[in-house]
Amino acid sequence: GTGTESFPLAWEHRPSESAIAEARREEILANPGFGKHFTDHMVAIDWTLEDGWYDARVQPYGPLLLDPAASVLHYAQEIFEGLKAYRHDDGSVWTFRPEKNAERFQRSARRLALPELSTDDFLESLRRLVAVDNDWVPSGEDTSLYLRPFMIANESFLGVRAAQKVGYYVIASPAGAYFSGGVKPVSIWLSTTYTRAGRGGTGAAKCGGNYAASLLPQQEAAENGCAQVLFLDAETGTHIEELGGMNIFFVHKDNRVVTPELTGSILEGVTRDSIIQLVRDRGYEVEERAVSVEDWRAGVESGDITEVFACGTAAVITPIAELKTSEFSIGSADAEAGELTMSIREELTDIQYGRRDDRHNWLYRL
Ligand code: PMP
Repeated sequence: GTGTESFPLAWEHRPSESAIAEARREEILANPGFGKHFTDHMVAIDWTLEDGWYDARVQPYGPLLLDPAASVLHYAQEIFEGLKAYRHDDGSVWTFRPEKNAERFQRSARRLALPELSTDDFLESLRRLVAVDNDWVPSGEDTSLYLRPFMIANESFLGVRAAQKVGYYVIASPAGAYFSGGVKPVSIWLSTTYTRAGRGGTGAAKCGGNYAASLLPQQEAAENGCAQVLFLDAETGTHIEELGGMNIFFVHKDNRVVTPELTGSILEGVTRDSIIQLVRDRGYEVEERAVSVEDWRAGVESGDITEVFACGTAAVITPIAELKTSEFSIGSADAEAGELTMSIREELTDIQYGRRDDRHNWLYRL
């Protein structure tokens, strides 16, 4: 009969929205990269000069509606933080010394004439976001959920003064292992043309403008085959300050570790502070002092400096093989990672992932 022939049908399964989301999430978590994918929600809190902080909420992740005259777009009145949430073997989720980030966020706010957010509110904002997006915290080795709190001036006003309307937000992004295939020593580029921060400037604040200024020298570093750019102090152009996004340490042969002192133009890294503690615990003497490029060159030449490494939340600890400039280089590109470098790296990540006793009470459960 007519109309009864059977055709082979290509059946299509259309999963529900939540199943799509789950499948997509699993795919992302298997290979998250860094800073490319974002969780389902975000935190938002508003502030006005009149009312202070109000309307704290967790809302679906999505675009912000900004007036074209919003002051952040013109005068860069903006600050941010970066920290990670780590999943432990028992499934619990922890951050590492988040009150340090809260305090640095307050110092950054002060410098940028933005309102301060209390440590309690800062911590609560992280807790709330991770509570709803807990499934986004990966569990693979060396993976984490990167948390990015930030604050912007969003008053529609072109006059140059501190905004009277501000927004605080937290977004989160799953992060893979920084070094897939083992930790590799990197070459870094010494910027002799550009500096990052001057005396009285914003170098100690974590504000977007600092990073905008570092992009061109960072590009120059990449063109010269280097992973990061190293900045000198603006005043004398002789002292080492920090990398574009990391602090720096020198290991000396007589159980001494040296790192540039906090001069007001260096970002006070949470990783830097933790490493100082961990190497002191091992009986090393830590000197926070001025280090010149000449000190570095002479130290490597004499054998006094045995290891150099960079540190920060994203990569934890990165061994530095060599420093390159257009005129000379210090160290050699094929240098191996130092012993203390790798052992402190392991100790720190063991604490963060709950594999080792947290004797300094650095972990904070979300
Ligand atoms: N210096 C700069 C300029 C940075 O951006 C960072 C990353 N926040 C660091 C140092 C390291 O800081 P932390 O250890 O707190 O990540």
